[in-house]
Amino acid sequence: MLSFWVMAIMMTYLIGHTYYCHLRDEKLAQQQATASALASSVAQQELLALQDESQEQLESRVQERTLELNIALQELEAVNQELKEKNTLDELSGLYNRRYYDQKILAEFRRSRRNLTPLSLILIDIDHFKKVNDSFGHLVGDKCIVEVASMIKSLLRRSSDVSCRYGGEEFCLILPETDEKGALALAEEICQSVRQQVIPNNEKAIKLTVSCGVTTYLQEKDVTPEIIFECVDKALYKAKQAGRDQVQVMPIKIVNS
Ligand code: GH3
Ligand code: MG
Ligand code: MG
Repeated sequence: MLSFWVMAIMMTYLIGHTYYCHLRDEKLAQQQATASALASSVAQQELLALQDESQEQLESRVQERTLELNIALQELEAVNQELKEKNTLDELSGLYNRRYYDQKILAEFRRSRRNLTPLSLILIDIDHFKKVNDSFGHLVGDKCIVEVASMIKSLLRRSSDVSCRYGGEEFCLILPETDEKGALALAEEICQSVRQQVIPNNEKAIKLTVSCGVTTYLQEKDVTPEIIFECVDKALYKAKQAGRDQVQVMPIKIVNS
């Protein structure tokens, strides 16, 4: 009987101990699981923070690069604009140059033909300009060209009117949608304004005159921009022949026939 109770007590102890060990192990495992879950959550948060930081760094580098690119683009645009101006503007007078005239007259000629609108040219040449150079020197001559150019420019009223320095002391005006009457009036005004203009100069104020040729294209047959120029050049020659300081008109049909 005693051995039975001893056995029973031992068995109870063993079962209890085993159960206790099992509970302890389970608790330990649970604690370990909680700890590693916590560690993993911390690691995840750190990773997220790192990701945020590198995203921010990336964004700021992209912004920096975009800014640099925009500045480079603006500089390139400015250089392009400068190049374009150099290509189309006459350095001395600030008017358009001969190259621009050649392009513009072709474009305006086509537009005039398409829209059936008149297109006028005025060719202006400073009278006896050699004398100015001979008497006052080339630099003063240059100054006179600048003054006459700016006078011409100031007399143009329409934004579509184009003033070019065609050659030395010769200027050509392209006047889209302008008939002979309008072109003649403008040429007379230029002649008169230059006649009244006094160009200051150390030794002696300089007075100049100009001669002007006018022609108007009205969709006459077989006409080209070259023929229109030939015509206005003839008109200018006529003005020179007739005594200078005046305007002469040459209708296209006379030259063309
Ligand atoms: P005309 O009344 O017949 O036009 O007489 P002109 O003396 O003006 O004769 P022409 O048109 O043949 O001569 C133009 C002169 O303009 C010749 C040249 O010495 C001068 N010239 C041309 N280009 C320039 C320039 O850029 N600067 C200066 N100072 N003179 C120039
Ligand atoms: Mg000349
Ligand atoms: Mg001249």
